[in-house]
Amino acid sequence: MTIVESIKTAIRQLAASGDNASLEAEILLAHALGTTRTHLRTWPQRKIAADIIPRFNDFIQRRATGEPIAYITGTREFWSLELQVTPDVLIPRAETELLVECALARLPTGRTARVADLGTGSGALALAIASERPQCHVVATEVSAAALAVAQANARRLRIANIEFRLGAWYAPLGDARFDLIVSNPPYIAQHDPHLQQGDLRFEPRDALTAGADEFGALKILIGEASAHLLPGAWLLVEHGYDQGAAVAELLRAQCARDIFAVKDLSGRARVCGGRY
Ligand code: GLN
Repeated sequence: MTIVESIKTAIRQLAASGDNASLEAEILLAHALGTTRTHLRTWPQRKIAADIIPRFNDFIQRRATGEPIAYITGTREFWSLELQVTPDVLIPRAETELLVECALARLPTGRTARVADLGTGSGALALAIASERPQCHVVATEVSAAALAVAQANARRLRIANIEFRLGAWYAPLGDARFDLIVSNPPYIAQHDPHLQQGDLRFEPRDALTAGADEFGALKILIGEASAHLLPGAWLLVEHGYDQGAAVAELLRAQCARDIFAVKDLSGRARVCGGRY
């Protein structure tokens, strides 16, 4: 079978499960061959080695049953860093890059600062911030040992050395250290939200998506305990659900946070919010 024939067959198998069948077929064939999509497009008539076909078919079958592309290829790009992801971590989302932008805007280049990323998962936020601000010291905490191992492996592979990883929930592993800026993308989906039964979310770690009975459970801990871990005037920045902006701003106000701001995603919904303590 040639490259173009294999892609066409795969598109037919994937067509039922989404609108991105042709892109996904190309990504999975490139992954099976250990090459790039550009290579596939340059050599559409090349024959595929027989031993690659079962591998490619396996990827297509998995995708057809809903497994996220990122777990099949084991990678996802975030802030132009190629991150390794496993089913132990949330797949980094494009909207979380907003949180990176907000953090960088508050971390002047060339100055040292202490930054914490709580619930680091794959390490996405910590790695993006640490790579952009090499003079900053980042502490990343994570309650899941398996997730923390993924984040640490990402830091090693990307040679990002200014991150210290600590196992534990939220602020627990920080002791009495204080920071110039704290970021977090916590679980904030309501426990019974039907989205948890749809798409990629079905395959992601439940604890990374939902905080349990109270959808604000993790956000309340982050916002409520921040003052003990921030230097005077330092920032807490969090991501939240598309309909949670007003409630999260209220939680910040209740802690007497100042300069509270909200940032909207591309679809116009507030997704990141923060304030100074
Ligand atoms: N901080 C990681 C991310 O933004 C993980 C977040 C999580 O697991 N809730 O992708």
